[in-house]
Amino acid sequence: MLEVRGLSVRYGDALAVEGLDLSVADDEVVCVLGPSGSGKTTLLRAIAGLEPIAAGAVLRDGVDLADVSPHRRGLGFMFQEHALFPHRDVIGNVAFGLRMHRLPKDQVTARAHEVLALVGLDGFERRSVRELSGGERQRVALARALAPEPRLLMLDEPLGALDRALRDDLARELRHLFERLGVAVLLVTHDHDEAFALGDRVAVVHAGRIEQIGTPADVWRRPATEFVARFLGWNVTDSLGAGRAAVRPDALRIVANDTLAGTLTSTWEGTVLERAFHRDHFLVRVALSGGNETLDVAIHDAEPPTIGDTVRLAVDADGLVPLLD
Ligand code: ADP
Ligand code: MG
Repeated sequence: MLEVRGLSVRYGDALAVEGLDLSVADDEVVCVLGPSGSGKTTLLRAIAGLEPIAAGAVLRDGVDLADVSPHRRGLGFMFQEHALFPHRDVIGNVAFGLRMHRLPKDQVTARAHEVLALVGLDGFERRSVRELSGGERQRVALARALAPEPRLLMLDEPLGALDRALRDDLARELRHLFERLGVAVLLVTHDHDEAFALGDRVAVVHAGRIEQIGTPADVWRRPATEFVARFLGWNVTDSLGAGRAAVRPDALRIVANDTLAGTLTSTWEGTVLERAFHRDHFLVRVALSGGNETLDVAIHDAEPPTIGDTVRLAVDADGLVPLLD
């Protein structure tokens, strides 16, 4: 449905997006995941026709969109920070995009009511957007993007400004909405949870280029590059006898000194440098003995060791992925 070919976007001397290839099929949800400054917003703006492109092409159904103006591209765009009009009420914000399409007034109103109901904002039509909570504003922005019935919906950090409980709820709602509408979605975010929860495919970007693209399970289980591994919170190490490898923190275990006596399993000794509590586990940073590498170890059920303790580590093979880059 959407195809981005060799796309580059330049700001002055720097390329914010560099030779990027990406496609989104009908009904598919593709999440672009990357740190702040990696070119995510620029990518969406270029696809929307809001940013001049230095090289490459954006195609919809095989047709180059170079000469198609932004509001004729059949795209819905929910901007980062929502970009609502503060002086308009809720329905005024939602209707705005429809007026651009020169629909008759009664159809504009009917459609605006319909999409507001779709996002759970029945009865909010005349409220000022200044009086809304962050979650409600997010829904108004979503309704505005959905109003012209786009075939491709582009969402820039849709859950970015919300607190955690609200994010989880809205992520679930978004997933149901995407299924119900059967719309293609290109979502960009810096948040792993958001990308992995919502995407049929996840593309990890770094400095304007795609480092890896695949299903959430593929990317999560087999990071392809050092950047992807580190960005997902894996260790990258040369010290575990498998060459340069990525190791998931919860594939490392602290074992008692005597448990493995007589087995062939390798273990590594180290000293605990730091420990921190993370929602449902402790993350312990261990400096390996005889080198200058550290490894992060996730501890879910056991009592975590104390800073300064000497510990022995074992690794589960299925959480260790050799890196080729
Ligand atoms: P992200 O959305 O992933 O945080 P952006 O696409 O906003 O990243 O930015 C990518 C890079 O381009 C950054 O280095 C940013 O500073 C730069 N950039 C973004 N917009 C502009 C602009 N209008 N003028 C100059 N540089 C920009
Ligand atoms: Mg951005």
